[in-house]
Amino acid sequence: MTYPALHLLIDGAFIGAEARAGEPVINPATNRTLAVLPHARAADLEAALQAAARGFAIWRDVTAAERARIIKKAADLIRDRSEAIAQAMTLEQGKPLAESRGEVAYAADVIEWYAEEGRRAYGRIVPSRAPGVRLMVEHEPVGVAVAFTPWNFPALTPARKIGGARAAGCALVLKPAEETPATALELARAFVDAGLPNGVLNVVFGDPAEVSRHLIASPQSQKVSFTGSVPVGRQLMELSARHMKRTTMELGGHAPVVVFDDVDVEGVAAACVAAKFRNAGQVCIAPTRFYVQEAAYQQFVARFTEGARSLVVGDGASPGVQMGPLANARRVDAMERMIADARARGIEIGAGGARRGNEGFFFEPTVLVGVGDDALAMREEPFGPLAPIASFKDMDDVVRRANGLPYGLAAYAFTTSNRRALDIGRALKAGMVGVNSFAVSHPETPFGGVKESGHGQEGGVEGLHAYLDVKLLSHG
Ligand code: NAD
Repeated sequence: MTYPALHLLIDGAFIGAEARAGEPVINPATNRTLAVLPHARAADLEAALQAAARGFAIWRDVTAAERARIIKKAADLIRDRSEAIAQAMTLEQGKPLAESRGEVAYAADVIEWYAEEGRRAYGRIVPSRAPGVRLMVEHEPVGVAVAFTPWNFPALTPARKIGGARAAGCALVLKPAEETPATALELARAFVDAGLPNGVLNVVFGDPAEVSRHLIASPQSQKVSFTGSVPVGRQLMELSARHMKRTTMELGGHAPVVVFDDVDVEGVAAACVAAKFRNAGQVCIAPTRFYVQEAAYQQFVARFTEGARSLVVGDGASPGVQMGPLANARRVDAMERMIADARARGIEIGAGGARRGNEGFFFEPTVLVGVGDDALAMREEPFGPLAPIASFKDMDDVVRRANGLPYGLAAYAFTTSNRRALDIGRALKAGMVGVNSFAVSHPETPFGGVKESGHGQEGGVEGLHAYLDVKLLSHG
């Protein structure tokens, strides 16, 4: 498997390190350096912003049909190159190759969907109260957007922001996570090769705090889109507020899963294992707090624990591996902190509980059984392969506990009763609720949270409108 050389992309040119500072990109399965990533200097960031402003002046006037053609071509190129992009992703992020392939295919679908949806940024004519007056509501691109994407989905998170901004007619300066730069750069390369005008998409890297401060404070940028943790989201919101920039914040979650006792417990437990340990649990909508109704509790715990123990953990590049390493040492530390807290509280560790090997960042799929609501793993997002399970009595009890945290990204429930399905779907406070399903992310549907999990959506028509301003034209 080969890892591509790393660059900045500014004004249509891929720029190498030259005399710039840089940082190593590490394979989390081996701890070895894959390549050195150049950091943008302040002058590079300024050049990217200026290029974006010029790119916007061109792109906003390109017809929706022509924009759609270019964006669709980029999606096709990503599909043509999917194997190389997936391999780079597994090398830099660690997830099993099958998951990387699936993510690249999904990213191409998102981009293609936006190619089509950009043709439908309709306005409306509003009947006027005054004779002879025409009231027209139009949608205009916000201008230059700046976006920051994380390392857990190195293709999908940039695809949502690039797709939405592209289709709306905006230019973008994107700062993907420094830990997983190659995937985003290869997506950007597809856009350049598809004929996107220079400057419409720029990709920079550097010290995250310095880059975000520069890009958000610049008078050239009009919109900020961030996917990442709640604390960083809060910082970027504060910066954006100072400069009165529009924001989309897709932040962390701690998704409750409510399993009622009327379900096929074996089947639901198996589905929960597959969803929980995907990408080693480093998924913002991962099911992370399991509440199982008393009569089904023992059977669920037994089946879930057995499923976790049987997962094949290893280098994501090796065939048959179901769970790769964690993406970085910070996640290993977080797992150890949560497990130490559980041990101190006398909580039973049903499976795993420790780091595996001393090369790379491998961690055992871990199950905590009979976890009280005050345990750290129940209160803080694990963002790793750690599943706390608790039992519940009835609807009122579980709804109160499920809604008891400041997060509100995703939530799930399993039941065969229509009445319960309707009631729990309404009662759970989250941006996305899956009832008898973990599938809450699709190109066509809004993706985003409430409460401290953020605001605004990506995906669906809402993800297009995130990059459009509303204008009223009143013609007398
Ligand atoms: P972190 O808070 O250090 O960073 C989160 C992301 O923000 C990273 O991609 C990072 O590069 C970026 N970032 C950090 N400081 C920044 C700044 N000042 N300006 C712009 N970007 C900045 O956390 P981490 O250790 O990288 O990740 C772990 C936590 O992040 C998890 O607990 C999870 O809550 C959250 N996370 C959420 C998502 C998501 O999809 N919502 C994705 C990745 C990480």
